Order: sequence, then structure tokens, then C-alpha cells
Amino acid sequence: MSYDPKTARKVYWNEPVQTTAWDLSYLPEILRGLKITSIVFLRNMGKWMTGRKGALTTYYPEETRTDYAPINRGKHVLTQRPDGRPQCIACNMCATVCPAKVIEIEAAFDPSDAAHPKYPARFEIDYSRCVFCGLCVEACPEDAIRMAKEVPSLTSNDRHSMWLSMDEMLNWQPARDVAKPYPAKAAPGGPK
Ligand code: SF4
Ligand code: SF4
Repeated sequence: MSYDPKTARKVYWNEPVQTTAWDLSYLPEILRGLKITSIVFLRNMGKWMTGRKGALTTYYPEETRTDYAPINRGKHVLTQRPDGRPQCIACNMCATVCPAKVIEIEAAFDPSDAAHPKYPARFEIDYSRCVFCGLCVEACPEDAIRMAKEVPSLTSNDRHSMWLSMDEMLNWQPARDVAKPYPAKAAPGGPK
């Protein structure tokens, strides 16, 4: 850190730069900005009018991007056990942590499954309010909910049709944790 001998005060690394007469006149910089904007606009418009794609804009929902980053938080996936049932144990942690309160789970009880007697009879997410923060994925102790990089189709005239069902989450992109062993479910009437 240095000192300004004129003012005898400290000079910090992020001191504002001195404003020059050129900066204070404003107009040249405004014209320079307008020139850049006009060039880009006319170039994109020319490409569009000649049938080529101009601006790097996706015309959603007619077009969907395919170049999402692998870590993009897109559509939810519920992982399956080897027998296809949801890995979810209906512990409600994802619904509790969800800041938008958009996860609804109805737990059910299966006494024949001694290892995981609780399971979700209904698991739905309201995509009209989900903020795609990923906290549900972080909170899950079972790796039962993930987010794939593909984004969901979110256009609708009816918000009630924007609920994502458990069936769709389980099957639109089936995923399993093959390393996770699950004891076989007991046969009905067999030892528990
Ligand atoms: S991504 Fe965020 S807002 Fe959406 S369901 Fe998960 S926790 Fe809730
Ligand atoms: S998805 Fe995970 S956190 Fe949510 S209820 Fe199921 S096991 Fe619990």
C-alpha cells in the first residue's frame, strides 16, 4: 500500500481511476457503444434474412440446446433399485430443505421390506415454482434424487400440468446406483 503525497492518505489497489475530460464528455463513448451494437445487430439480421443463424440465441421452445454443461441442474431423476422400485425412502429431507416448498411426498409402509419399509406412494415436484437450486439433491441421504443436465419442457398455459410425476422422474432417464447393495425383498408370507 502506498500514500498519496498530495493528500497524505492511503492509496488502495482499487482506487477509482481519474476521470478525464474525454470521459466527462460522454458522447464519444455513447457513439462508440451504439456503433458496436449496430454492427452486431446488422450482422445478425443479415444472417437471419439469408437463412443462416445469426445471434447465438436458442428459439425456445421450438429449439432446445444440446450443449448444456454436464453439471447443469436440469430435470430431476429419481434413481431406482435393482428391481425398479424407487431408491427413495420417503424421509422427506428434500422436501424440508427445498426453499420453494415444491416437493410433495406421501409416504407408505411396506412391512415385507424389512430393510426399507418406508417408500414414496406419491412423489411430485411443482415445476411452476422450482428454482433449480439443487438443494434437494444435496440433502438426500440415499442418492435417490438427481438432476440431469437436460432441461425440462417448462412451457404451459396451465400451471397444474407442470407437476412432474414420480413415474416420469423414475423412467424418463432411468438411473441406478449399481454399487449400492440392496437386500432382496422378502417373499410374501416368508421370513422377515
Ligand atoms: S431444485 Fe431446489 S427448488 Fe427445485 S425441488 Fe430441488 S430444492 Fe426445491
Ligand atoms: S429423495 Fe432422498 S431426501 Fe427426498 S424423500 Fe427420498 S430419500 Fe429422502
